Amino acid sequence: MLLEAPRFVLPETLAEALAARAERPEAVVVAGGTEVMPDLLWRNRTAAGFLSLRRVAALRGTTTDGGDLVIGAGTPVAALTTAPDGGLRAAASSLGTPLVRTEATIGGNVVSALPYRNLLPTLLAGGATLELTSAAGTRVVPFDGFVTAPGVTGLREGELLTAVRLPAHVGFADYAKVGRRNAQFVATVSAAVVSRDGVARLAFGNAGPIPLRSDAVDTAATALLDGQATADDLRSTVAAAVDPPEDAVASADYRRHALGVLAVRLVTRAAVDAGLGS
Ligand SMILES: Cc1cc2nc3c(=O)[nH]c(=O)nc-3n(C[C@H](O)[C@H](O)[C@H](O)COP(=O)(O)OP(=O)(O)OC[C@H]3O[C@@H](n4cnc5c(N)ncnc54)[C@H](O)[C@@H]3O)c2cc1C
Repeated sequence: MLLEAPRFVLPETLAEALAARAERPEAVVVAGGTEVMPDLLWRNRTAAGFLSLRRVAALRGTTTDGGDLVIGAGTPVAALTTAPDGGLRAAASSLGTPLVRTEATIGGNVVSALPYRNLLPTLLAGGATLELTSAAGTRVVPFDGFVTAPGVTGLREGELLTAVRLPAHVGFADYAKVGRRNAQFVATVSAAVVSRDGVARLAFGNAGPIPLRSDAVDTAATALLDGQATADDLRSTVAAAVDPPEDAVASADYRRHALGVLAVRLVTRAAVDAGLGS
């Protein structure tokens, strides 16, 4: 009698992981499992096998390269709570609980691709790029555009997310989220800011089906930063740019309002940091 192929693959190296990814495209990739396992439990997902990245040391850790912070996709969120980037620190520190942060990875957060995931606005505001690797090689794509619909990304068959690159910058970066409570609850809405050389860039979570940013919002944020516009101007620009969901947690109107509040709060913090505000 032929034995069934193993349903659980536990590679030790990236090469083994990529080979397994190519050979078993039906296997669900598992990093920390904090998303996959509850999904299976609640029957939101089925699995014909698993490819665990847990033992692939090459996917963990943070380095710098040509000014970029290069974060291995398997790096636990807990490790990002002390990252040099203030936005990443704040987004990581308010993700789940200490236990969840120990298991959860940045790669799992990105590939889950849900609009309320903590790290996504920070990556969008910061101009992050992603390293997507298959047995054939690595391509680098902007995070902006990678998420195409809730839970849907541009990851191709045979690919793993191997690293997230966040451009290092001398400036200010922060993140804030509104939720029913800080721990154990996903963001009702969230926002991230990066400000340098007098220019502010904002990005939002749960402001639409995918992480969202807009040139009009950045223009209004920059104008507020240098005192050329008011908080009301920014709030109304944000309200026009976002298209938040309506659900049992909050109305679209509440979310639209809260997104404006977060935008003004973050830009005000950036102005204070730059010595422009009080
Ligand atoms: C109690 C609890 C509280 C939570 N609170 C929050 C919260 O406040 N904010 C928040 O954003 N999230 C929260 N989460 C969700 C989850 O913890 C995060 O999204 C986490 O970052 C997922 O990472 P993971 O490594 O556990 O992903 P996994 O569950 O291992 O994987 C998630 C998805 O990504 C895919 N994947 C993972 N790594 C790769 C890779 N390298 N290449 C290709 N595909 C990959 C998997 O196939 C799967 O589709 C919470 C979860 C729990 C259980």
